[in-house]
Amino acid sequence: MDIPRIFNITESAHRIHNPFTPEKLATLGAALRLEAGTRVLDLGSGSGEMLCTWARDYGIIGTGIDMSRLFSEQAKLRAEELGVTDQVTFIHGDAAGYVSDEKVGVAACVGATWIGGGVAGTIELLAQSLSAGGIILIGEPYWRQLPPTEDVAKGCLAGSISEFLMLPELIASFGRLGYDVVEMVLADQDGWDRYEAAKWLTMRRWLEANPDDELANEVRARLTSEPERHAAYTREYLGWGVFALMQR
Ligand code: SAH
Repeated sequence: MDIPRIFNITESAHRIHNPFTPEKLATLGAALRLEAGTRVLDLGSGSGEMLCTWARDYGIIGTGIDMSRLFSEQAKLRAEELGVTDQVTFIHGDAAGYVSDEKVGVAACVGATWIGGGVAGTIELLAQSLSAGGIILIGEPYWRQLPPTEDVAKGCLAGSISEFLMLPELIASFGRLGYDVVEMVLADQDGWDRYEAAKWLTMRRWLEANPDDELANEVRARLTSEPERHAAYTREYLGWGVFALMQR
C-alpha cells in the first residue's frame, strides 16, 4: 500500500507537506494551549513534523497514520532525531475509517480531507475519536481570490471553482456543521513557496540521479512548467489554513 509514487519523489525532502512553515506549526501548537500528556491523533500525518515537534515542545502524546511508506519511515526517523520515540507512534496505513481505541484531546487531518470524503466526512470521522470538549483540526485550502474562470481554478490544480470556498464561507461552513471555530492559523504566500518551490530542487536533483526512470519524463515536464504555474495560479489564488473546531 502506498500513495502514487510521484508524490514520494517530489516531496521526498519535505518535512511539512503543506504551505505551513515550521514557525506556523509552532504558532498553531501554542495557539491550542496544549497541555503535556494531551493525546493527539493525526490522519495523514505525512513525515510526522506536527506530532514530533509538538511532542518535543508541548509534551503531547501522538499517533499518526499515513499511507506513504516513505513519509511514515521519515516520521519515525524524525521522532528518533527529536528524542520523542516514547511519545509518538506512526502507523503506515490507510486512515480512511480510522478511529482510535483511546479517545484523544485533539483529532487532526491537516491537508488530507479526502481521507473522510471531504471536510464534512472527515470531521465526522475525527469526532469518533474525540473526547468530550476536544478539538478537531482541519487543514484545508480556500480561495484567497475567487478565480475569474474555471481555467484559473484548474491552474491551481482544483477540479473546479466550486471545489473550494472563500475564507468567510469556509468558516461559515464549519458553523453549519455544528462547530465553533475556536482558533485558526493561516498560511501565507511565502509558505506556499516553501511547499511548492522546495519540490523544484528535489525534482532537479532526482532527475540528475534517475535519468532513465519510468517517471523521468513526467518529472521533467513538471519541473519545466511548475514554477510558472505556481507563480501565476496557486500563489495568487489559493489560501490555506488550519482551523480548530469545537462542537457547539
Ligand atoms: N499532514 C501532513 C501531510 C499532508 S499531505 C503534513 O501537513 O505534513 C497529505 C498526506 O496524506 C500525505 O502524507 C499522504 O501520504 C497522506 N495520505 C493520502 N491518502 C491517505 C490515506 N488514505 N490514508 C492515510 N494517509 C493518506
